[in-house]
Amino acid sequence: VRRTVLVTGGAGYIGSHAALALAERGYRPLVLDNLSKGHHEPIEQALGAPVIQADTRDRAALDAIFARERIDAVMHFAAFIEVGESVADPLRYYENNVSGTVTLLQAMQAAGVGTFVFSSTCATYGVPEVIPIPEDHPQNPLNPYGRSKLVVEAILSECETAWGLRSVSFRYFNAAGAHPSGLLGEDHDPETHLIPLVLHAALGKRPSIRIFGEDYDTPDGTCIRDYVHVSDLADAHVLGLEYLLGGGASMAVNLGNGRGFSVREVIAAAERVTGRTIVVEKAARRAGDSPALVGSSERARTRLGWSPRYPELETIIAHAWAWHQKKHG
Ligand code: UDP
Repeated sequence: VRRTVLVTGGAGYIGSHAALALAERGYRPLVLDNLSKGHHEPIEQALGAPVIQADTRDRAALDAIFARERIDAVMHFAAFIEVGESVADPLRYYENNVSGTVTLLQAMQAAGVGTFVFSSTCATYGVPEVIPIPEDHPQNPLNPYGRSKLVVEAILSECETAWGLRSVSFRYFNAAGAHPSGLLGEDHDPETHLIPLVLHAALGKRPSIRIFGEDYDTPDGTCIRDYVHVSDLADAHVLGLEYLLGGGASMAVNLGNGRGFSVREVIAAAERVTGRTIVVEKAARRAGDSPALVGSSERARTRLGWSPRYPELETIIAHAWAWHQKKHG
């Protein structure tokens, strides 16, 4: 029988790619999203199934879904994700990201569902002591977004002790790119992420791109990030699910390419991919930013057999560019 997986935030960027990857591998994804940020049409078209519009903080709605469907596992993507916004409004982040997860876990416990794949983040690490960052690196988040995810990681391990929940927490580095089919892509409103903003500048949808700080202790002074293709993240989620369904023990797993690119290098790569000139502006540092975040994905490779299909930054940007041109061009 096909296994059913509840995908919260499945109308969002990473969640929609994971829902499609599940369907491609023979699972039945049930997409739940409150549509505060997500877009229901692309994933509904890709799956041929409707999005269930509900909030993870709505216990009654969750109970009804667990009662109606035989759910084997949950992938939990629904959350707010912006570092800067979390610094300005921390309570909004704890309310949505922590309270929403607590309510979801309560509904799972009541329904007897104990398999959980969680969207965590490299923002839980703070300023790295070593690069690339391994999973056992100290976690000292610099912003409420990262802390909201770290709190959930702790809750998951406490729930394992208390009632046997088993989970994989994926600590994503910088998700980027788009589904190679062009069916799904990154569409935040307002957009705050570097690669889509750079592509908006390439398309002439914005005049320039601001560089948030050029005085970091990095070779060109701009922040370094590890960009990973969203379809590679999606593949890892299916592998993580299969690992848990096969009896694997709970763990945290980094997902990145192990190579860092500075903001300036990303802009240069986007100029090569698009063939367009991108105007840059200097701007102040953004609150809550770590100077460099690059992950070791040894654990994903050895324990899950993960191997990214699209590790090259230019391929990642090219897929994002194809999707942006189709959408806005
Ligand atoms: N960034 C930038 N200008 C922008 C948006 C982002 O310089 O308009 C920088 C940001 O400060 C960070 C990097 O690009 O160093 C990646 O930021 P993004 O918001 O894409 O992802 P995050 O690392 O916060 O998850």
